Amino acid sequence: MTSFKDFTDACRMIEQTPGSLEMTGQVAELLRKVSCDELPVVTYFIMGEVFPSWSDEELGIGTSLLYTALSKASGLSVKDIENLVRETGDIGKTAALALSKRSKNQATFSSFLEEPQQLLILDVFERFKKIAKATGKGSQNAKIKNLQYMLNSSSPEVARYLARLAIEELRIGVGEGIVRDSIAKAFDVPVADVERGFMLTNDLGAVAVAAKRGGATEVTGLSLELNRPIKMMLAQITPNIETVVHEMETAAIEWKFDGARVQIHKDGDSVTIFSRKLENVTNSLPDIEAAVREHVKAGSAILDGEAVAIDENGKPRAFQEILKRFRRKYDVEVTAREIPLTLNLFDIMYLNGETMIDLPLTERRAALTGCVENTGSIKVDEQLLTGDVKAVNRMYDEALKAGHEGIMIKNPNSPYSPGKRGKNWLKKKPIMETLDLVVIGGEWGQGRRTNFIGSYKLACYEPDTGRFLPIGNVGTGITDEKLAELTQLFSDLIVIESGREIELKPEVVFEIAFEEIQKSPNYESGYALRFPRLVNVRDDKSPEEAETLERIEGIYSAQRK
Ligand code: AMP
Repeated sequence: MTSFKDFTDACRMIEQTPGSLEMTGQVAELLRKVSCDELPVVTYFIMGEVFPSWSDEELGIGTSLLYTALSKASGLSVKDIENLVRETGDIGKTAALALSKRSKNQATFSSFLEEPQQLLILDVFERFKKIAKATGKGSQNAKIKNLQYMLNSSSPEVARYLARLAIEELRIGVGEGIVRDSIAKAFDVPVADVERGFMLTNDLGAVAVAAKRGGATEVTGLSLELNRPIKMMLAQITPNIETVVHEMETAAIEWKFDGARVQIHKDGDSVTIFSRKLENVTNSLPDIEAAVREHVKAGSAILDGEAVAIDENGKPRAFQEILKRFRRKYDVEVTAREIPLTLNLFDIMYLNGETMIDLPLTERRAALTGCVENTGSIKVDEQLLTGDVKAVNRMYDEALKAGHEGIMIKNPNSPYSPGKRGKNWLKKKPIMETLDLVVIGGEWGQGRRTNFIGSYKLACYEPDTGRFLPIGNVGTGITDEKLAELTQLFSDLIVIESGREIELKPEVVFEIAFEEIQKSPNYESGYALRFPRLVNVRDDKSPEEAETLERIEGIYSAQRK
């Protein structure tokens, strides 16, 4: 059985390792050492996650809750903890320092023990599960108690990583890419097989267990499972219809509906709807649930589509209106009547026990139209298979006239690639492309804006390391009303404050308009934005879905051409 200390020792070593190749070796060794029961947990923990991304479970530990637990475990006041955070600039160091003062300040049960109770890695996971389950009245207390227990059982060095993990910010530079390579290395499985296993399960923990148990044979045997959402296939922007249609010879053209993405799992009569962030939103969308149950003629299926809210003139309503539906927890039926949704299905990944993702789009499409009865509330809309640029342009104009965003140009022979943004799905829209960037920090305003976070630090994502790399700031052009709203949104995500500067837990994605991307030595990404402007808060996107550094590089090169 692996102690949590063994895990944190490995974290320390990895944190001090500069090269990703060596890091991969160290993560591989850790994965090899632990048992099959511990393996999934170690896989999530090492990336600073507690549950797999498809899971509904959420830890829900904000910084204020962690500070309270640290205060109780150390005997320091919350103010002292906040000061330590300010001085050290790191929640991990703060926890280590606070707990090293513990015996002097507080007689906790464990401080009477010679050695603190040895926490096992699975104990920590069980405690986190309890924390995630605590809801309603008394839940804050329950969360604090569980955290306090773990801190009391930790040495200061162990607490350093426990505190970071509690807010899911381990920051040792290990992301999905490194874990994928480490699983391959640890259990001698080709990286491509690990990658495919990950695509199908959306769970590197499950892939690691399969690799340990049965090597490549078991990993290649992994498959899609109903009610475990997979990542969505993504689209790349194309500036030019003519070139891509000529390249594809025959292209599959669809409207790019202006709505919100949904992935639907139908398992007999049970229907589960996942949002783009893979959150289970079934309870908020009873109309879609009913429509799928009634009009999708399949025993089981996994479907991809866009939910659109249409106004009285038949035009799509603003994205924010749709999100009201997705977020609704109470009076769901009332909101459903106010903002009715139509479901446009455009893909199918699984049908009656068969995985469909490797079939070409044309075959998936035939299967999809074969099992969906088009009605007012659910439909498989037109898809034009053509090499005629004029016909494509015509469809583009029609889509825009109908108030939608533009068109999708898809390769009719392509498979469904979960989580991939490639050339097989291209999008063409008239408006300037925006960037989805993660907010990682900010600065309190001055004068009239002292109580608001007046500017926000933006970052792109590097999947291999799981790091968020700064690319600029946005602040100008946000109204006071919006600033107040945003300050509220970020209030529990503040990790560190130092003077006017704050560091924020990377959870919120901003959609940012910009004039141009420039090279810049001032930001860690190596790029900066000219005239960034906040367009929207992308509540539907998770930070891992933000632009990757690779994409920023791509846009930069495209600009120069
Ligand atoms: P974007 O969000 O700009 O990256 O564009 C891709 C998004 O367009 C997808 O995630 C879907 O939510 C949406 N979309 C609308 N219509 C379609 C369609 N026919 N095929 C694929 N995606 C679509």
